Amino acid sequence: MSAYWSAELETLAWSGVERWQASQLAEALPALWQRSRLYARLHADARSRFAMRGLADLDALPFTLKDDLRAAQQAAGTDTPFGDNQAVPLADIVQAIASSGTTGPPLYYALTARDVDVFADAIANVWFTAGIRRDDVVAHLVGLPMVAGGLPYADGFRRLGATLCWLGGFPTERIVRDMRRLRVTALLATTSFAQHLAERWDDVGRETGIQSSLQKVLGGGEPGLGQPDIRARIQRGLALTHLRETMGLGDVLPSMWGECEMQDGMHFNAQRYVAVELIDPASGQRLPWTDGATGELVYTAIVRDATPVVRYRSRDHARVVGTRCACGRTSPRIRCIGRTDDMLIFKGMNVFPSAIRDLVVGRFAARIEPVLRIVKQRHDQVRFDDAIPLEVEAAQALEPPQAEALARQIEAEVRSQLQVRVAVTVLPPRTLPRGTYKNALVAVRDDVAKGQP
Ligand SMILES: [Zn+2]
Repeated sequence: MSAYWSAELETLAWSGVERWQASQLAEALPALWQRSRLYARLHADARSRFAMRGLADLDALPFTLKDDLRAAQQAAGTDTPFGDNQAVPLADIVQAIASSGTTGPPLYYALTARDVDVFADAIANVWFTAGIRRDDVVAHLVGLPMVAGGLPYADGFRRLGATLCWLGGFPTERIVRDMRRLRVTALLATTSFAQHLAERWDDVGRETGIQSSLQKVLGGGEPGLGQPDIRARIQRGLALTHLRETMGLGDVLPSMWGECEMQDGMHFNAQRYVAVELIDPASGQRLPWTDGATGELVYTAIVRDATPVVRYRSRDHARVVGTRCACGRTSPRIRCIGRTDDMLIFKGMNVFPSAIRDLVVGRFAARIEPVLRIVKQRHDQVRFDDAIPLEVEAAQALEPPQAEALARQIEAEVRSQLQVRVAVTVLPPRTLPRGTYKNALVAVRDDVAKGQP
């Protein structure tokens, strides 16, 4: 059996992959201008002088922003429920996908039968890279079929040939018991749920009297799995070492990045269907894939019938961990470092909540739990003129003077490493809410007062 899902493209030199993608786009883009009213309009100025010789020629095309997709959707009608970016007749569409709508009204995307097939193959490729095989029994824990992580992820597991156990949607207690009863060997979950399960897994074993068969964890949906201490806790709690991060984007393709057996950053696995660029988010300039580079990921669908995107700004920021890998795959490896939407500004300094979390959890691992919370005054607060309120949870009960001392140490560490000020409150053990889907890293003051997570 091959070590790769799609050996030819996964092991071709990256420059060769980009040349091949450019040749595909040279045909796909002119066809797109005929099919999509959105892109006929967005590219109206650029298309007359556009020539696709290499992927760098994409620079001549404007970015697509989420607001462009929103506006296109506003033009929805009876035959075009997906608006101006519906690029095929309604009769050819077989499925709608909805964004989760966490940052505004939901956006909808459509799939033709070929799009469904493309999604299944690309997502199976990611699961394969992340070590899932045909003999795995996989617990799929996303509860909503219509979101990108719902049915498309399930299709990816079935395409790969693994045994899909779609437990998402049941109450948590049922999920964890069924995982023992079904002898689940692999699990796809958010980092928060994996942490929750790690704390409960031994108890479930005692309750059911069934030994754990769990060997593999696929995580994602939020940053955190790149953080060594969080990884260590999950590995310890579940008694396994196979822990792989994955990432995608519902607007483009729900899973495109997956970690190989080196467990050192996520490879790009969608090269047959999607071209990816790294850009400087401030200037929009394309950046080379070099070790240590950081920037925003921008995606162009090479094969997408129903709701295509070209140079779509993901608002996901990534750091390039490596451009060579012992596994033989040639695509760059990244870690996600945060989303533009999450960025906070302290006196002109930008900082991602995940950067604060990773620093604090990493440096104070023995003394605090890896759950913490940044508290905003309002949902839309981005700027802080005073220190950013940060709640952490002590690992063991502390006397008030000890808690005070710990708080000041954390504040000093954040200030020296990230050049932003935080005001730390150390809470007693097990006082912050644990979500089974995603732990909210940022909360709003009024919601906290009302006892909502
Ligand atoms: Zn690798």
